[in-house]
Amino acid sequence: MVAGETLLAAAGVAKTFTLGKVEVPALRGVDVSVAAGEVALLMGPSGSGKTTLLSILGCILSPTAGSVAVMGRETAGLPERELAKVRLAHIGFIFQGYNLFPTLYAVENVQVALDLRGITGHDARARALEALASVGLADKADVLPRDLSGGQKQRVAIARALVAEPEILLADEPTAALDSETGRAVIGLLRELAVSHGRSVVIVTHDPRIADFADRVIRIEDGRIVAEAREPS
Ligand code: ADP
Ligand code: MG
Repeated sequence: MVAGETLLAAAGVAKTFTLGKVEVPALRGVDVSVAAGEVALLMGPSGSGKTTLLSILGCILSPTAGSVAVMGRETAGLPERELAKVRLAHIGFIFQGYNLFPTLYAVENVQVALDLRGITGHDARARALEALASVGLADKADVLPRDLSGGQKQRVAIARALVAEPEILLADEPTAALDSETGRAVIGLLRELAVSHGRSVVIVTHDPRIADFADRVIRIEDGRIVAEAREPS
């Protein structure tokens, strides 16, 4: 990856959900692009379309209209099977909540991401252990989620998102359940792991206290981007 290269680009993205006879417009024409090595925060009130946009950028959800290019490849209109390939090859997703499997040990929760990519056995365990070490959890490999703190669970989720070395990392309110100090530490770690590898990172957050970790803050209201500020660095 070349620094500054655009890894993720959305143009004119719209999404309308249909609930019976009611149409809910969640996104109304969004343009956004993120470069390699860049950390963008997506901020906005509840219901403004943040999760919808992140899911579309991550090829989890298809837009109603518009274009989404991942690593230069257009994904709008691809069948689910092809979208899944794009996701597995290029995208790491940290979901709202931690989404850890309660009956799997930390290392196994990380290995799940490799399993999905056909990497199993000894090699997978070794890579998962390495990823846990990179988030400071080398000694928690064989611990169940219920015996981890919130910050530790979130770091397992980060290790899982990063273990397959995706170029693009998307995180939905990763600090929502954490106290502010732990939240800042988690975002700092995310930033460091991402930027040192030239990844593109988009973090959805409500939390103005983490704005100083971003290269850019993108504000969304009512399905539209209303302001974009480049943080002085
Ligand atoms: P945010 O993450 O900013 O809180 P969302 O992207 O979750 O906002 O939601 C944006 C709008 O779309 C809201 O009005 C929400 O109710 C609606 N919405 C989101 N997902 C769905 C869905 N699966 N079905 C119907 N409406 C949805
Ligand atoms: Mg949301």
